[in-house]
Amino acid sequence: MRVAMISEHASPLAVLGGEDAGGQNTHVAELSTALAAAGHDVRVYTRRDGPELPETVRMSDAVDVVHVPAGPPEPIAKDELLPYMKDFSAWLVGRWRADDWVPDVVHAHFWMSGLAGIAAARQTGVPVVQTYHALGTVKRRHQGTADTSPARRVGYERALGRAVDRVIAQSQDEVRELVRMGVPLDRMTVIPSGVNNRTFSPEGPAVPRTPGRPRILTVGRLVERKGYQDLVRAMPMIPDAECVIVGGPPPGEVDTDPQVRRLRALAEEVGVADRVRLIGAVPREEMPYWYRSADLLVAAPWYEPFGLTPLEAMACGVPVVGTAVGGLTDTVVDGRTGDLVPPRDPAALGAAVRDLIVDRVRRYGYARAALDRAHREYSWSRTADQIGAVYSAVSEVRRPSGVVAG
Ligand code: UDP
Repeated sequence: MRVAMISEHASPLAVLGGEDAGGQNTHVAELSTALAAAGHDVRVYTRRDGPELPETVRMSDAVDVVHVPAGPPEPIAKDELLPYMKDFSAWLVGRWRADDWVPDVVHAHFWMSGLAGIAAARQTGVPVVQTYHALGTVKRRHQGTADTSPARRVGYERALGRAVDRVIAQSQDEVRELVRMGVPLDRMTVIPSGVNNRTFSPEGPAVPRTPGRPRILTVGRLVERKGYQDLVRAMPMIPDAECVIVGGPPPGEVDTDPQVRRLRALAEEVGVADRVRLIGAVPREEMPYWYRSADLLVAAPWYEPFGLTPLEAMACGVPVVGTAVGGLTDTVVDGRTGDLVPPRDPAALGAAVRDLIVDRVRRYGYARAALDRAHREYSWSRTADQIGAVYSAVSEVRRPSGVVAG
């Protein structure tokens, strides 16, 4: 099938770890590659956010990334992108007609891509599949007035859920949230993200370790909801171990980054500054080296739509101590591949990590089970097969849609 992936802010070609570049970018890149490997013709449409970007870049065999001119060709925070979605969809329609390449299905990633997708699909009669990646209702619940999303986000997300042909939820928790929002259950299919088991495996180079120090790794964008501050606060309970935080600014800008400074100041305050290291963003291809160097991964978000980093660690044979939220409650099997603790609870986190660090036998057991689970249950080819089946189903039954793009 001809598949148009729309990922308005998250380019599959982006450098990851910065504030708006993480799991969605990985997801779109890996899913597109796996769909192409299964024989689909995939084009990924993402906003042109630099003047130097060519219109089309070949990412891999049978996957083109197309940079859509919508708004100024410069980086813009995703919460500021809504006004450009009309231009985005109009450009898509013009391009599909000009190229004589009308997709069989549009797969939109994130709510704004959904608006652009629905608007374009309405003019071309193409079905739309939606993956939210994150929900405004959840973000608002946790962030309150600190949430910078456009005020209309939640309303649009609800309308989208009723207008698209199919919603792909990434976890059971997301299904519950979508039902609470009023999205009909029969419109949803649960398909988890995958992990690249060739890239993420126990065999291969590892970053050298600090002699005599167990290593706790945590990975992701340096945003508050990832809970790094809770891990730093837990560190006094975990003597001797070092905590390595991967993600955030490019390496040259680590020392001046405000989030890094805040975490370092906290580490100073709780007396663990000599055992907390902030590395900055690491290129995607080097991530396995970091996972392999760790005794365990901590993923302590306050909420998490899916969470790729626990799966990546598991695929490298690294157990996870995580918070019992969102996708982690599906991927991490509590007491078998890792331990789950309540979110925003440094004492519970510290106790769980300390106990697992000292209990080498349990840690090895978890590591084996984690590796086994990641390799058996999660792969991008499996995700692509399931999503391909959804594409086929929605192409057979086309429904008229009814949402208005802002
Ligand atoms: N990542 C990376 N380099 C970094 C930090 C993160 O390549 O410095 C990748 C990480 O390996 C994972 C993704 O970014 O593939 C983060 O995805 P996750 O779902 O854990 O978090 P999100 O960004 O969606 O909140």
